[in-house]
Amino acid sequence: MRHVIIGAGAAGLTAARRIRELDSTAEIVVISRDEHVHSRCMLHKYLSGERDERTLNFVSPDFFEKNRITWIKSAEVQAIVPDRKNVVLGDNQMVCYDKLLIATGADSFIPPVGDFRTAGNVFGLRNLSDAQEIVKHIKPQGKVIIVGSGLVGMDAAYGLLEKKMDVTVVEMADRILPIQLDEAAGNEYKKLFEKAGCKFILNRKASETILDSQNNVSQLILDDKTVLDCDVIIVAAGVRPAIACTIESGIDVEKNIKVNEYMETSVRDIYAAGDVAGMSGIWPNAMKQGCTAAENMCGNRTAYEDTYAMKNTINFFGLVTLSLGRGQVQEGDKVVIREDSKCYKRAIIREDKLDSVLLQGNMDYAGVYQYLIKNNIKLKAEDDIFKKSFADYYKVRTDGQYEYNL
Ligand SMILES: Cc1cc2nc3c(=O)[nH]c(=O)nc-3n(C[C@H](O)[C@H](O)[C@H](O)COP(=O)(O)OP(=O)(O)OC[C@H]3O[C@@H](n4cnc5c(N)ncnc54)[C@H](O)[C@@H]3O)c2cc1C
Repeated sequence: MRHVIIGAGAAGLTAARRIRELDSTAEIVVISRDEHVHSRCMLHKYLSGERDERTLNFVSPDFFEKNRITWIKSAEVQAIVPDRKNVVLGDNQMVCYDKLLIATGADSFIPPVGDFRTAGNVFGLRNLSDAQEIVKHIKPQGKVIIVGSGLVGMDAAYGLLEKKMDVTVVEMADRILPIQLDEAAGNEYKKLFEKAGCKFILNRKASETILDSQNNVSQLILDDKTVLDCDVIIVAAGVRPAIACTIESGIDVEKNIKVNEYMETSVRDIYAAGDVAGMSGIWPNAMKQGCTAAENMCGNRTAYEDTYAMKNTINFFGLVTLSLGRGQVQEGDKVVIREDSKCYKRAIIREDKLDSVLLQGNMDYAGVYQYLIKNNIKLKAEDDIFKKSFADYYKVRTDGQYEYNL
């Protein structure tokens, strides 16, 4: 049996490892555009100089050899041909498969603002190659503009502030980390970033660019005509599932590759897992999906169950925040806020059920809140979600183990 996996990220390599555990004789081939295996979650540490190509690696140096996996690296799959059961690489080389896993992740979305898509000094931050280009282009104490203050944008700012760069973040919302946090929680991070030298321009959009003679953006113009000088621009305006190789393959794709609970695509013997399957954009879920795909590729019918993806953990400057649920307040919601000098908590209760929780500075009962949200559990009218004790949530089973009592 020949398993081919496109992608050497969280989903792809977890799948490869699991297939080897399940089948000692299978042939396993991993193809990746990446030249180095790397953790995307750690790219800010490459920007700061704290890690290099070797220490970003999240598998052991002998991973491929030990697991007898053939790794075709720095190679892009251009097309998938299900009729012939092969994939076509950029140099027209064809690789045949019995079972194929598409674990291609996502690509940075660069909006069509001025010359963003063609200038030489505008980058996304998704791959090590992006971080390598950014590091190549920054000058000591140079001016970096980051467009977008989501998790990736703030990761980039964090790494570059460590390097003493002059960092300005431009955000079109009225607060930073607008998808994950409310104003109060976002402001705590804003203050910490400002203390480290970061500048913020909120409520503004990037609108035009001025190029120098080398096709680099030397000035960014905002929608209120503010002009900002820059050496490098990092665009952190979201990602799109990396589906280019599926075009004309017949695989059912909308924004992402559609999969069922077994991680099967609409085409027989082709599976998808990780960010490209669009169920989640976080590392642990990509790993679990890769593992589920591997089970099914090896004939163990296994459903993917961890479909709860609305979860983000943020840690900048030692301040930890967990955001669970959708986090958007709607008319009719009850919003409960508790804060003291050490922590900030917000719960959104919709139709007597916990819809979302934000915990900053203190993660107590995070597991319980997730359980309540995930399982749509009705709260009692008199319940104060932040005033419950351990005994309200758990009971002891006859074998002495704790279990939820909700
Ligand atoms: C800066 C940053 C910080 C992040 N921080 C966190 C965090 O703190 N916590 C968290 O949970 N998540 C974080 N994430 C998200 C997390 O990294 C992703 O959810 C995870 O990497 C998804 O894994 P994946 O295997 O689906 O895709 P990826 O890890 O993106 O891997 C995709 C692989 O596919 C390859 N590939 C793509 N197209 C092709 C092609 N056509 N041919 C060949 N190879 C191809 C790529 O080279 C790569 O090897 C962060 C992401 C970024 C960018």
